[in-house]
Amino acid sequence: MLGLMQHHPLLISDLIEHAARTRPDAEIVSRTVEGPIHRCTYKDVALRARKVAHVLTGWGLGPGNVVCTLAWNGYRHMELFFGVSGAGVVLHTVNPRLFPEQIEYIINHAQNEYVFLDLTFVPLLEEMAPRLSSVRGFIILTDKAHMPVTNLANVLCYEDLIAEADSSYAWPQLDERTASSLCYTSGTTGHPKGVLYSHRSTLLHAIVQCMPDGMNLSTRDSLLLGTPMFHVNGWGVPYAAALTAAKLVLPGPALDGASLYQLLRDEKITMTFGVPTIWLMLKNYVDQHGLNPREELVLERVLIGGAAAPRALAEAIEVQFGARVVHAWGMTETSPLGTVCTPLPKHANADLEQRLDLQALQGRYPYGVWLKVVDDQGDALPHDGASAGHLLIKGHWVTNGYFGSESEPLLDEDNWFDTGDIGTLDSDGYLHITDRAKDVIKSGGEWISSMDVENAAVGHPEVTEAAAIGVAHPKWQERPLLIAVRKAGSNLSKEQLLGYLSTRMAKWWLPDDVVFVDQLPHTATGKLQKRALREQFKDYQLPGTPS
Ligand code: AMP
Repeated sequence: MLGLMQHHPLLISDLIEHAARTRPDAEIVSRTVEGPIHRCTYKDVALRARKVAHVLTGWGLGPGNVVCTLAWNGYRHMELFFGVSGAGVVLHTVNPRLFPEQIEYIINHAQNEYVFLDLTFVPLLEEMAPRLSSVRGFIILTDKAHMPVTNLANVLCYEDLIAEADSSYAWPQLDERTASSLCYTSGTTGHPKGVLYSHRSTLLHAIVQCMPDGMNLSTRDSLLLGTPMFHVNGWGVPYAAALTAAKLVLPGPALDGASLYQLLRDEKITMTFGVPTIWLMLKNYVDQHGLNPREELVLERVLIGGAAAPRALAEAIEVQFGARVVHAWGMTETSPLGTVCTPLPKHANADLEQRLDLQALQGRYPYGVWLKVVDDQGDALPHDGASAGHLLIKGHWVTNGYFGSESEPLLDEDNWFDTGDIGTLDSDGYLHITDRAKDVIKSGGEWISSMDVENAAVGHPEVTEAAAIGVAHPKWQERPLLIAVRKAGSNLSKEQLLGYLSTRMAKWWLPDDVVFVDQLPHTATGKLQKRALREQFKDYQLPGTPS
């Protein structure tokens, strides 16, 4: 017997219409590529999203078609999030920081028919356009006054399209499993792989994201999205913001300390989202200018993910900014929400040190996903906070298979997806990520967590960034080498840094050597490129080893 309850498909178009109905005047504030700050409302975004959908439908696009964006965080990109997916078309958000050959590969692989691009990316697309076989036209996200002279064929001005389009559009009532958006993840080997989200997965993800033990978003918040909208759909925040109709601030291409600080202060931001690097830049800016964010800002929560949130950063955010770090873990394949670090009742009276210990963990998993850690044989490991193993995940917003490679099995027979991360789970369900499987340092049959060594190193006030890698060792198989970047003007010595680390980790974890460099290599999503470092230091002679 079926229940006698109404069934409505979970659709992205409903999110923006809900925001426009319930809080039409809540603001979307954007720093534009052209320069000035732009203000509009959910009512405006919904109306213009309907126009976008009308245009796409008029061009004959619908389910099965894919269009892409090369765009920063801004209101026009937001309109495309809802207008494109709402019309049943797949929105492919291209990461412009990928290598040009990778961008060309994924636009062709996804058979993109139109490219919506910010002014910044016109030269890039001009260069590759002749090789984009499926693309029928380019829409530049600007107005007539800012249209560039370009040799792109079939080029249109977004504002002209919107001005002419009809806003009376009836959103199609799609099957909720219809594909809605597409993000490619760049592994360290091979071509980028596409993760294809559905309306249903996106809506369930957004609902759980808003829960107090998710990201705790509400209509009373003023959200600053420092995560690019081309990283896992901006971590799903544009959808969750519409679900709550919270004020949303989109910083455009300007992610420097001064620009972000101005938005935090002027837009009375209560919550931000971003990778640790953004916050390190912001903190440097505040230190250099002697600012007092505790007095000037009303910031409450700083959601950090994408890479481990270093303890020292969490401390600075609490002490200097008067805000709390909310640490989260996820990946492109998981939409991204996997875990969020929120406290339990027993943590109610935790002091600063205890809070920082807790915030260093990646957090607990919400309803909707399942996690487990297994050993090399695939046997489940105990939830004791110490047994580190391969982290597996399944759930409503976890991928089934990569786009275009559906025939290649990605999951095990029980539908678990191997994240490639190594971690522990404790008896309260808190996850601690210790490494990527391929980055673990194997010393004498035991694992050393490269991330824990790095986090300890960046706790030193004169270290801005650090990478720990395994280097071949005749006796121990591998031993850790620390490669660190010092603060400008610092004369920190190897002995001083090792002395500092020796009180913060087990003796056998202590790096055998330290090399100082001016900068470390990063991937297009800002992660340390350990493979490049392993290659660079593969013949490194550790002290005390025979040459
Ligand atoms: P991406 O798919 O590019 O978002 O990268 C996902 C990967 O980033 C994960 O598999 C982790 O290795 C890493 N990652 C994400 N969040 C965290 C975190 N809070 N702590 C440590 N690593 C993280």
